[in-house]
Amino acid sequence: MLAIYFSPMLLGLLLLLAIAVSATALWYVSRPYAGPAFWMAAGWTLILGVVLFIGFMVTGSPVLNVLGNAGQLAGEALFLLGIFRFMGRPLPLWIVPASVGLMVAFNVHYWIFDGNSDLLMGVYSTIAGLLPLQAIWLLLCRRDGQTTRSAQLLVGVSLLLYSAVTLLRGYYGYHDWLVDRPYVPPHQSFSYLLPYNFALPALVMGFVGVTLMTMQRILAVSREHEARAQHLATLDELTGLLNRRAFNAIAERDIAHARRHRHSLCLAMIDLDHFKRLNDSYGHRFGDQVLRAFADGCKAQLRSSDVLARYGGEEFVLLLPDTEPGEARTMLDRARSTVAATVFGAGATPVALTFSAGLAQARAGDDIDSLLGRADRALYRAKAAGRDQVVLWQPD
Ligand code: GH3
Ligand code: MG
Ligand code: MG
Repeated sequence: MLAIYFSPMLLGLLLLLAIAVSATALWYVSRPYAGPAFWMAAGWTLILGVVLFIGFMVTGSPVLNVLGNAGQLAGEALFLLGIFRFMGRPLPLWIVPASVGLMVAFNVHYWIFDGNSDLLMGVYSTIAGLLPLQAIWLLLCRRDGQTTRSAQLLVGVSLLLYSAVTLLRGYYGYHDWLVDRPYVPPHQSFSYLLPYNFALPALVMGFVGVTLMTMQRILAVSREHEARAQHLATLDELTGLLNRRAFNAIAERDIAHARRHRHSLCLAMIDLDHFKRLNDSYGHRFGDQVLRAFADGCKAQLRSSDVLARYGGEEFVLLLPDTEPGEARTMLDRARSTVAATVFGAGATPVALTFSAGLAQARAGDDIDSLLGRADRALYRAKAAGRDQVVLWQPD
């Protein structure tokens, strides 16, 4: 009992158990992110392999020896597959049968032909040490996946350390086989403790690394969602133009800028003519289509500094920085002719559309409300004067 308690194998098994439990928790909290399911499976498969191997140590059963080695290699291969899965790469599934199959073949051969145990250890360690190379290359050398890059490096370095230690162990196996070293008890063998002292800690580091990698991805994705939600909150759903709130924020800024630099700034309030009639005759859905087409048509005519927004219903506002009233009127009149020449509607019923616009130029002391107020009064005059026209606000 005491011998078991002081054995590195027990310590190794318990460390693997800690890894497997943590990997299971990682899988649970990070669902449905890709990767952790493999790492969880890897943790438990490694444990299965070690338990079978301990069974072999206790009973001396060749079957348990073969299964134990195969299980440990399968666990390692699963861990590596998780990395490919996480990074969105094609899964090199072949590494499982290739590594496990090779080991089983050699291990069975060893039992049947009474082979050399140092050579067997050399072969096992070579397979286990070479297995991670493809994943290490991917983790350390590929520049994609910037958001998880730092944790990726940690995993890559951990695996590199694991590989180096394991290959070193393999080297000792071949060496002892070649010089035909007589059997030494484990506690006198330098290579016996290599996996417990160095490879297992490297594996722990690797598991911490993949956990960080997953957390980094979750953080990046949620940041992206926040930014996207914020962007959507500034848009009008029907037309994709800015909504009133977003427009007001931009307009306040542009008005202040124009005041500071003594630039001319104009604002137009646009209202579609007799839109209720259009809705009544052709239906609300058709009205929506017209609103969308109108918005697209206007957008196409704007300069990059102009700001067009849907202010509500069939009302639009257009902010024109660095624009004199004369230029603004010319632009709106051009838009009016374009809209008038556009045939809205599909099929048999072409529909003509016009709009009226009230235009106002910003003056000292204006804020968005006072400027909008004057544009609105000008719009009222345009409607009263028979619609389908642009009126520039002027004092009575
Ligand atoms: P005018 O402005 O020329 O005086 O006449 P109007 O018929 O356009 O009058 P008003 O501006 O008062 O009415 C706006 C109408 O626009 C009322 C409503 O049915 C319609 N409308 C508002 N929002 C929407 C919308 O999102 N979709 C559709 N299809 N119609 C809308
Ligand atoms: Mg209207
Ligand atoms: Mg209206």
